[in-house]
Amino acid sequence: MPDEIDRAQAINERLQSDALAAHFRRHPRPDPGAFAPTECEDCGEPIGEKRLAAAPGCIRCVDCQTEYEQRLKRG
Ligand SMILES: [Zn+2]
Repeated sequence: MPDEIDRAQAINERLQSDALAAHFRRHPRPDPGAFAPTECEDCGEPIGEKRLAAAPGCIRCVDCQTEYEQRLKRG
């Protein structure tokens, strides 16, 4: 069902932009021109450049993202 895929996609984008907005409220950037967060939302460690390049807009390091996804799956 293409409609449902579109809707899921829209929800994902919405969640992603909400998460980004929340991240910047908690961790304001000294440089407002820098869009991508560079610190992990959960542990505060720097997110590697490779990960940022591979997953633009990500707000967690690989470890925390994995944990987060496992939490989501468990419910
Ligand atoms: Zn982390």
